[in-house]
Amino acid sequence: MEHFDDFGLADPLLRAVKQEGYTIPTPIQKKAIPCVMAGKDLLGCAQTGTGKTAAFALPILHRLGCAPQTGGRRRIRTLVLTPTRELAAQIGESFAAYGRHSHLRSTAIFGGVRQSPQTKALERGVDILVATPGRLMDLMSQGFVRLDAVEIFVLDEADRMLDMGFIDDVRRIVSHLPARRQTLLFSATMPAKVRDLADSILRRDCVSVTIAPEAPVADTVEQAVYFVDQGDKRELLTHVLGDSRVTRALIFTRTKHGADKVTRHLRNASIPAEAIHSNKSQNARTRALDDFKSGKTRVLVASDIAARGLDVDDISHVINYDLPQEPEVYVHRIGRTGRAGVSGIALTFCDPNERESLDIIESLINERIPTISEHPWHSPIPTMRAMADKKPARRPSQRPPRRGGDARGGRSRPAQPAAGRSGGSATASRPERKAAEPSASSSGQRKRRGSRGRRSSSGQSARQQ
Ligand code: AMP
Repeated sequence: MEHFDDFGLADPLLRAVKQEGYTIPTPIQKKAIPCVMAGKDLLGCAQTGTGKTAAFALPILHRLGCAPQTGGRRRIRTLVLTPTRELAAQIGESFAAYGRHSHLRSTAIFGGVRQSPQTKALERGVDILVATPGRLMDLMSQGFVRLDAVEIFVLDEADRMLDMGFIDDVRRIVSHLPARRQTLLFSATMPAKVRDLADSILRRDCVSVTIAPEAPVADTVEQAVYFVDQGDKRELLTHVLGDSRVTRALIFTRTKHGADKVTRHLRNASIPAEAIHSNKSQNARTRALDDFKSGKTRVLVASDIAARGLDVDDISHVINYDLPQEPEVYVHRIGRTGRAGVSGIALTFCDPNERESLDIIESLINERIPTISEHPWHSPIPTMRAMADKKPARRPSQRPPRRGGDARGGRSRPAQPAAGRSGGSATASRPERKAAEPSASSSGQRKRRGSRGRRSSSGQSARQQ
């Protein structure tokens, strides 16, 4: 299946795919689309940014379109359950885009916004419903949603769903679905609790599709770590953002309060920035995201609400101002850059107290993140890491060296210090601060992106996080 035409998808879908600018199916699409079209259950292990939305949305639209509902009001024939409002909005937009030439109707429901536009859409009748668990259960209890005609159920980001404490809600919702149905479960990671859930909701003969489990970090993301004391992070951040190659930066803090503080600091330093986190009203979140997407603001500071699912084109840099509590979150955070074949840079600011978290992250991704030490706030490399640097790589045999990898199975330090490159960097004005930042997205490698990332995020919502 080298081209979309090879799948046998209905013409209206192929037209939409073309309009999105997709030519070659991604690996998850190659594997999942034929299975889903054949009506099989699917267990998909794939990170975000792999094109997994189209991997399920296209064959679902195909199946529903091939067997149109006869007579009467439309009933919900597909339910997609997803953990966050942003994801629900994005998946809803994808269904609308891929299904634009079909007669099928879809809508997304999520908390944090007034329910009446959502209930009106439901009353008009929809074939495909994308929902977060909380709002779905609310609207079910009010009688706006019935799930007894669902033919296909998608559980998206199952690991995240469980991490966020939605397991009981998920099970309750599943109990309202017809037993005879097609089920697709997607998860970035497959811990035991996700497997248990999968065992209980998927048919025994389900197809398992795993995309690059050995390489949770896309090859298109160049990573680097700065060792810096917590108190110096602000200065370092201003310094890094001074680099003109930082064209669109997403900064992650551990807390909402931290996101606000960093945003204030940047504004005081005359760097326009917006914060996005769950204490912000939905309108403020939508506005911040729209401004970021349109390029009005270059810097968005986020708590982990945005770590998953946020689909913004051309984020040149992800900056981990704080290390995340959960190592997996690191992978999701940096997955906001380097999407769909476009290269990106992920920089991590690590205080000595965070070094253990860094070690765990490096174990998880099975690579050593190169250090940038040539900056004025460099805090001496913590002992554990210094020792580790002298040791051979961890588990070298488990993974072949990756692009740019060194002999230890990890990545070598970026070859060219930014200061030595044309285009200038924040570090260039002071030669002694040669930061070894890899250059941002090389345009030659850019893959044509679909329109999804450019779509308006209006209607996106905020409650789950
Ligand atoms: P997802 O993993 O579904 O969030 O998709 C990540 C990004 O890849 C989205 O911006 C999609 O529009 C884009 N995308 C999905 N499939 C393809 C494809 N076959 N070719 C190019 N871009 C794609």
